[in-house]
Amino acid sequence: MAQRDIFEKCVAFKRHKVAKEFGVYPYFRPLVSSEGHRVVIDGKPRIMLGSNNYLGLTHHPEVLAAAKKALDDFGTGCTGSRMLNGTLLLHETLEEELADFIGTEAALVWSTGFMSNSGSVGTLCTRKDIIFADREDHASLIDGFILSGARLVRFRHNNVEDLERKLEANRDHPGKLIAVDGVYSMTGELAPLDQIVPLAQEYNARLLVDEAHAIGTIGEGGRGTCSHFGVTKNVDLISGTFSKSFASMGGFLGCPQAVKEYLMHHSRQLMYTASFTPSVLATVLAALRITRDQPELVAQVRENAAWMRSELEAMGYNCLSSNTAVVPIVIGPVEQMLWFNKRIFEEGIFANPVLPPAVPTNACLVRTSYMATQKRADLVEALDIFRRVGEEVGVIGPNKDAMKTHWEELAQQMAI
Ligand code: PMP
Repeated sequence: MAQRDIFEKCVAFKRHKVAKEFGVYPYFRPLVSSEGHRVVIDGKPRIMLGSNNYLGLTHHPEVLAAAKKALDDFGTGCTGSRMLNGTLLLHETLEEELADFIGTEAALVWSTGFMSNSGSVGTLCTRKDIIFADREDHASLIDGFILSGARLVRFRHNNVEDLERKLEANRDHPGKLIAVDGVYSMTGELAPLDQIVPLAQEYNARLLVDEAHAIGTIGEGGRGTCSHFGVTKNVDLISGTFSKSFASMGGFLGCPQAVKEYLMHHSRQLMYTASFTPSVLATVLAALRITRDQPELVAQVRENAAWMRSELEAMGYNCLSSNTAVVPIVIGPVEQMLWFNKRIFEEGIFANPVLPPAVPTNACLVRTSYMATQKRADLVEALDIFRRVGEEVGVIGPNKDAMKTHWEELAQQMAI
C-alpha cells in the first residue's frame, strides 16, 4: 500500500463541512451564559435539555460558596500530581465521604472520569487477563481495555445469555473482568446487574460498573444502579464522574483499600498528571454532601424525567425503555434527526443529537436529559416545541409517511 501522509485524512475529512452548508451542524456550540436549566447560545435563551447537571448543583449557593472559599484558601491550582504536591486534605475527606456514600471500602479520585476508567482498568488488567465488555461500554473503558493489553471479548448489549456463553468458553481462565455501564449514556437503559452479578460469581470474574450517569439519578438517595439492584456489596469496582450530578469535573473509583493503594502507586493516569484544582475539589465535596443530605433532589430529577417521558410517549414519540434522567427520542435517519435537532434548537431547546455508530443508522436519536431544578413551566414549554417540530418534521402526527421521500432526497443531496 502506498505510503500516506498523516494529514491526508484531515484534508479529506468533509462531513462536518457538508452538515454546516446544510445548516444542521450541531456540535461545539459556545454557550454565552448559563444558569443551569437555561442557557444563552447565539444570542437567544434556550431550555437546557442536553446537560448532565442532573441535580442542578452547578449554580447551588452552597456549592458556589465552597468553590469560592477554596480559591481563597488554596489558590487557583494544585500545580502537581496527587503523588507529589497535589494532594490536599480535602482529597482525603472527599475520598472517605464518597466511599461511605457509594458503599465501598475505599475510593480514589482522579482528574477526570475518563482517566478513572482508563487508568483503573488499564492498570489493573494485564495481557494475561480477559475483559468481557458490553458492546456499548463508554469510550473511557474501551481505552482502558486497549491500554491493558488484555484479551477483549465483547458481548451483545445487555445480553446476559451472550455474556454467559462467552464466560463459559473461558471458564478456567484465572484473570477475568466484566465491565459494564450502570446507566447507558445515550439511551438511559440500565445494565441488568441482578443477572450479571450471579454470572460474575459463578464464573469467578471481577465486576466493574461505571456509574457516571447513575449517581444522583437512581438507587437509594442517588447511590446508583448497584444500589438500585441491591448488589453494591457484590460489585468489585464502582467508577463514576464528578462532571454530571456532582457539578464539576473529575472521577472516582470505589474499590477495596488494597486496590486503591496499588493504583495510587501504579496508575500513570493518576501519578503523572496534575490533580484537579482546589475549587473543583470543594465543589465536588459540597455537591456530594447536598446529594447525601437532600434526597428530594434525586426524587425531583426522576419525577421531571418520568413526566417528560410519559408526555412524549403520549404524543407518539419512541423513548425506548429508559428509567433514568436520560430520555432518548428516536427520530430515524441521520438527515431527519439533524433537521429535527436544528428546528428544536431554533425554537429554543438545546439537546444532544446522537449519530451512528452510537445508534443504528435508521434509528438516530436526540438525547434529552433532565434536571432537578427545571420547573414544570420549562418542561411544558419544551413539550410544546416537541409537538410542533415533531409534526412539522414528520416524526409524529399525520405527516409521518408523506415526509419519508423528503428525507430520502435530502440524504442523497447531503451524502454524508
Ligand atoms: N463514563 C461514562 C458512561 C460517561 O458518559 C462519561 C462522560 N461522558 C465518562 C465515563 C467520563 O467522565 P468525565 O466527563 O468525567 O471524563
